[in-house]
Amino acid sequence: MRITVDMNLCESHGQCVFAAPEIFSFDDDDHLVYESAPGDALLDRAEKAAAVCPVRAITVSRAAA
Ligand code: SF4
Repeated sequence: MRITVDMNLCESHGQCVFAAPEIFSFDDDDHLVYESAPGDALLDRAEKAAAVCPVRAITVSRAAA
C-alpha cells in the first residue's frame, strides 16, 4: 500500500490523525507527517483516514510500491 497526501490541499484539520494515528501525526511545528508505505494490515485505517479528510488530500493505493 502506498499513501500520498497532497500537502497543497492539507489544511491540518487532523481528522486523519484521529482516524489512523498509526500512520498520521503532527510534528512539533504542527505539520502533518505520515508513513507513506505502511503495512497492508493498516489498509482499513488508511482508507478510513482518506474518507474523513475534509479536503480529500489523502490518496491510498493498494498496489505494491
Ligand atoms: S485530515 Fe486531511 S486536511 Fe486534515 S491533516 Fe489529514 S490530510 Fe490534512
